[in-house]
Amino acid sequence: MTETDTVSNLQAVHERIAKAAASADRMAADVSLTVVSKTWPAETIRPLLAAGHRIFGENRVQEAQGKWPDLKAAFPGTQLHLIGSLQSNKAEDAIALFDVIETLDREKLAKVFGKLYATSERRPDLFVQVNTGEEPQKGGVSPQQAVDFAQWCRDELTLPIIGLMAIPPAEEPPAPHFALLHKLTHEAELPRISMGMSGDFEIAAQLGATDVRVGSAIFGPRNSP
Ligand SMILES: *Cc1c(COP(=O)(O)O)cnc(C)c1O
Repeated sequence: MTETDTVSNLQAVHERIAKAAASADRMAADVSLTVVSKTWPAETIRPLLAAGHRIFGENRVQEAQGKWPDLKAAFPGTQLHLIGSLQSNKAEDAIALFDVIETLDREKLAKVFGKLYATSERRPDLFVQVNTGEEPQKGGVSPQQAVDFAQWCRDELTLPIIGLMAIPPAEEPPAPHFALLHKLTHEAELPRISMGMSGDFEIAAQLGATDVRVGSAIFGPRNSP
């Protein structure tokens, strides 16, 4: 894919978000686009930064450490979101590099963050990941525990929890999962909802997403590892 392609794909995704939002009486500006750049090298990402985009998502701390310090230095205002599962022993590295961590998915990690945030100057905003499909192989707290867990993280551990995030099961229609996440976010009295990927970000935008995470609709298909 050439530079022009990724930049025009970005524009097309923005237009599709705007249309979907409008169809649900929402404002395009209320849906923030996180461009998921995992697996892509810095030179593929740079044209999107040069075109003015500033919000990106990566799923692995180590991979992000290899490309983002230079890109962030070159493009001030860049906001990097961690969207992949985080091992506790990488939490400190994640806090140092990422601006938002979307995958707070268990008590142990929350306690580690609680300790680190108490002394850290950097305090990335956090989403609690919810396993809406209750899939055993997927991270996230169960829908039944999500509200209590988010409030415990916020009120007891004083963590900056800003919303809930979910990745619905690949083989199910996403809308019921998006509706459930919307309901839980409302119950937890949190402002942001991260849901929707290349295949379903328009449905997510209609159902209340404030953050959609889109990779392949912009960069094309990733090579499988
Ligand atoms: C890879 C990934 C995405 C982007 O997926 P696409 O289908 O390429 O848009 C979004 N969210 C998470 C958590 C991911 O791991």
